Amino acid sequence: MPAEQSSDRGRSEQPGAAGSPGMAGSANGSVRPVASGAALPGAGTSSAGIRLKGVGKRFGNVVALRGIDFEIERHSRIGIVGPSGGGKSTLLHIVSGLMEPDAGEVDVEGATSAKDRLARCAMMPQRDLLLPWRTALDNAIIALENRGVSRKEARAQTRPYFERFGLDQFENVRPAQLSGGMRQRVSFMRTLVAGKDVLLLDEPFGALDSITRAQMQEWLLRALSELPRTVLLVTHDVEEALLLSRTVVVMSARPGRVVRTLAADFPTDASRREIVTSREFVDLKEQALEAIG
Ligand code: ADP
Repeated sequence: MPAEQSSDRGRSEQPGAAGSPGMAGSANGSVRPVASGAALPGAGTSSAGIRLKGVGKRFGNVVALRGIDFEIERHSRIGIVGPSGGGKSTLLHIVSGLMEPDAGEVDVEGATSAKDRLARCAMMPQRDLLLPWRTALDNAIIALENRGVSRKEARAQTRPYFERFGLDQFENVRPAQLSGGMRQRVSFMRTLVAGKDVLLLDEPFGALDSITRAQMQEWLLRALSELPRTVLLVTHDVEEALLLSRTVVVMSARPGRVVRTLAADFPTDASRREIVTSREFVDLKEQALEAIG
């Protein structure tokens, strides 16, 4: 049985969970964001997802982050955008539990210590980091093997994802024989089958060419809409953040602060092209770019 089926059995869906919304405002041909499942800073949420309050971090004299506040419900998606050097990766490392902040509070689905946060999060890095000597399937099972699952069992749990992600027939192929987009799909699969409820995506398509990147964004939007996970996406690409997230947090240049929070959450059954060309999307993109400055 795939980890997806076993790990999520019995969990309730959040209202407005991905996959449920239809295309809002289609009568006049527009595509607008549906009701957001995320809360703006300061608002209370019914179900704990990720919550940061007054988070700050400095490296020596460099203030990387100052007074970061935001929260999202469990199984919602948040995108963090901002200029390079504005503390996005630092924020991701703090949420993941790889690092503690100097100030403020971090709560990831009830976990507050770095060790407990680490146990709840799976990270997908910018570069796929697939092991060249392992097949695609054996790359995808690494997190399960690290947890002590036998190779046979891990393969059985992971194999169904190859068909689901359009990679059937590629289980026994080595990474060098896969395209960039396929490698990122294997990398995403590896993150997913780790069985964690929180997925942290760090510039997941940063290394891809623009056409493959657009295709992968559309693919990921569909994949995430079918998978109940809490997602934090870090990207310098405003369009990517708006497309894939329900809430977009715009950060300033260093020291990184939240300068704008935007509700995105476009319908997952609309095509990428329909969404990015809609007036609502273009308006939000302008607002985000203006906030970045
Ligand atoms: P972004 O991901 O938005 O590009 P980063 O979080 O990587 O920004 O970095 C924010 C700032 O903190 C930068 O000025 C960077 O040089 C500094 N920084 C990040 N990590 C460290 C570190 N481990 N030691 C010293 N400075 C760091």
